[in-house]
Amino acid sequence: MKRYTLLIAMASICSLTIAVQPVWSQVAETTAGMVDLERRASEWGASLSFDPLTGTGFVLRGQDLLRFKLGFASYMTGNGTLLRAAAPELYENRLRISQTTSSAIATWFADRDADRASRTTVVAILIDPGHGGKDPGAIGEHGAGSTKLRIAEKDIVLTIAKDLHARLTAKWPDKRIMITRAGDSYPSLDDRVEMANQVELTVNQAIIYVSVHANASFNKNASGYEVWYLNPDYRRTVVDSKKSEGVDKEVLPILNAMLEEEYTTESVYLAKSISGGLELSFGTSTVNRGVRADEWFVVRNARMPSVLVEVGFVTNEAEARLLSSEGHLRKLGDGIYNGIVSFVEYFERRKGPSAP
Ligand SMILES: [Zn+2]
Repeated sequence: MKRYTLLIAMASICSLTIAVQPVWSQVAETTAGMVDLERRASEWGASLSFDPLTGTGFVLRGQDLLRFKLGFASYMTGNGTLLRAAAPELYENRLRISQTTSSAIATWFADRDADRASRTTVVAILIDPGHGGKDPGAIGEHGAGSTKLRIAEKDIVLTIAKDLHARLTAKWPDKRIMITRAGDSYPSLDDRVEMANQVELTVNQAIIYVSVHANASFNKNASGYEVWYLNPDYRRTVVDSKKSEGVDKEVLPILNAMLEEEYTTESVYLAKSISGGLELSFGTSTVNRGVRADEWFVVRNARMPSVLVEVGFVTNEAEARLLSSEGHLRKLGDGIYNGIVSFVEYFERRKGPSAP
């Protein structure tokens, strides 16, 4: 009886030994404060590469690269910054790192993910040449006889917008570059805004709206370009009710205020970018009337960063003559193009939606 019990006891110990072996080795690893780097790398979804001759290697996960060297308490990231943590070491032909280093690397990978998730991409740009068809916009009539000139806003802005559309399409084949009209037609203001609002966007995607117009004034001397954005005091509903189903009714006004602030900040930056681009094109040869705020219909109803560019005055004879020349229109297109490119590059480079 006694012998029999002993046998059972031995069998139990054997099965126990087999069952808990991985736990024991983990305990041993933890006791030493060191963990196996290859095993950790596979837990992070990363691959490990090591050259025993130079004692250097790297951990790679997607675009995230971390280089290391035996005995060096710094890990170099793909962009050259250093992550300070205890050096990796070789133990029985296996690379191992401390628990603290392991946590530091895991946090670094998590930060890279968070950084990518918070980056916003401009997926669409809508160029809107104002007026068209039955609506000529502002008309400039100057001179007489052989110097007679008649220009219509709808034609000038269409030329600039089509040039801009072609250049942006060539620059960014992956973005959706749209135009509200490609000929002498008249989409209503509602149609134009709807085109922009219909673009399906995920949380980190954005669309920008650039409306192109030409000015008129009773003051025949008024000249130059200006860029308008929405007056920040103007209250509007920017949260799309279709997209906010299920959102707490009390939260909606808060979300709305946040988005409004966001679009205003971005619209101001876009306006300044375009104004700067135009100044780069013209220097002091054309008056820069600056960045202005108002409650234009198109800008007001577009739920996205949006601006309106007034390219010049058709009522000023000298400017009207410039606006009827292809070279001047191309320069205007250049300025707006450069402004949009610099805005988009800034927008996509920064980290969070409201980071400077
Ligand atoms: Zn207009």
